[in-house]
Amino acid sequence: MCQTHQSHVLSVSHAKANFERTTIERRALRPHDILIDIQFSGICHSDIHSAFDDWGGGIFPMVPGHEITGVVAAVGDAVTKFKVGDRVGVGCFVDSCGTCEYCQNDDEQYCTKGVVQTYNNLDYDGEPTYGGYSQKIVVTERFVVSIPDQLSLDVASPLLCAGITTFSPLKHWDVGPGKKVAIVGMGGLGHVAIQFAHALGAEITVLSRSLNKKDEALSFGAKDYFATSDPETFKALAGQYDVILNTVSANINVDAYLSLLRVDGTLVNVGAPAEPDQFHVFSLITGRRSIAGSLVGGIQETQEMLNFAATHSIAPQIEVINANQVDEAYERVLKSDVRYRFVIDISTL
Ligand code: NAP
Ligand code: ZN
Repeated sequence: MCQTHQSHVLSVSHAKANFERTTIERRALRPHDILIDIQFSGICHSDIHSAFDDWGGGIFPMVPGHEITGVVAAVGDAVTKFKVGDRVGVGCFVDSCGTCEYCQNDDEQYCTKGVVQTYNNLDYDGEPTYGGYSQKIVVTERFVVSIPDQLSLDVASPLLCAGITTFSPLKHWDVGPGKKVAIVGMGGLGHVAIQFAHALGAEITVLSRSLNKKDEALSFGAKDYFATSDPETFKALAGQYDVILNTVSANINVDAYLSLLRVDGTLVNVGAPAEPDQFHVFSLITGRRSIAGSLVGGIQETQEMLNFAATHSIAPQIEVINANQVDEAYERVLKSDVRYRFVIDISTL
């Protein structure tokens, strides 16, 4: 148990560099640690923002990846939650203080000490974290979730970020029967958001730049679909929605989207562009409207989301790629040329 675990990885040496194959050492197992043989790792747009250092402060070399699924290969002496052979997942976080009011409330993502992100972060010992584009990872059991039997490990992987990042705000803002919801942007997050909002019983409109994805949006459970490139869309839909979930990776015209909210409606942002958005305060006060944001979701809620996805047959639509195709996949995500999530088959690493 006291030896480290060598792992082949895909890493970038600096911002916007191509991926290269290297090896890293995962830490020797501590009593509560789990060693996971990673099988699949999804490509989230946040991986691209990070590897391109869009948000600044990037830690290089960087091994991205926070949509991790695999199988337990070994467990520390004190582990009770999992055993060797279990099918498991790891999302965006690998540690938190565990004692602050938010950790105690199962909102580890808002830990006051600072949640430890799965990659591009320092852990509480000051060591850089490396993510899921990797054969192995060691994670403390509190941050590992079970993958329900109904979900295959490749299809499940995007749920570990795209799934929980959309499920959590939909639940928090009480999306359900009688609520009208608009999902803005139909990429990795957006296409899963439609499925969750539909399963929660809401009436869903998809707002995408073009009409290209309309048929698929309706098949995922949307009732309506409009192109935001058409200015008529904003006139036709004025004042209609209780909640708008913005999943766009770039800046949006916030005022235009606020005008689509009913009185007391909320524009919830999960998309994370590097540059600040702007809006006019009149867009809020004329309708007692709110602007909000949401970061991923807690670990208990992630397990709830996975169980919900299994029960309601929610499945990300994925394109499985091999380890040599990641640079190309990044270019395609940036061109919105993905339907709807790339997932790396880690056995090709
Ligand atoms: P994605 O697959 O690339 O989807 C983003 C979608 O945004 C695209 O499919 C496209 O939708 C739309 N879009 C892209 N560029 C646009 C532009 N210039 N103008 C208008 N619309 C544009 O990305 P993702 O993986 O879903 O991630 C989306 C964003 O969420 C990223 O910024 C990511 O960092 C962020 N994120 C945040 C959290 C969180 O905790 N808050 C967690 C995960 C990800 P259409 O083609 O339909 O228009
Ligand atoms: Zn993500």
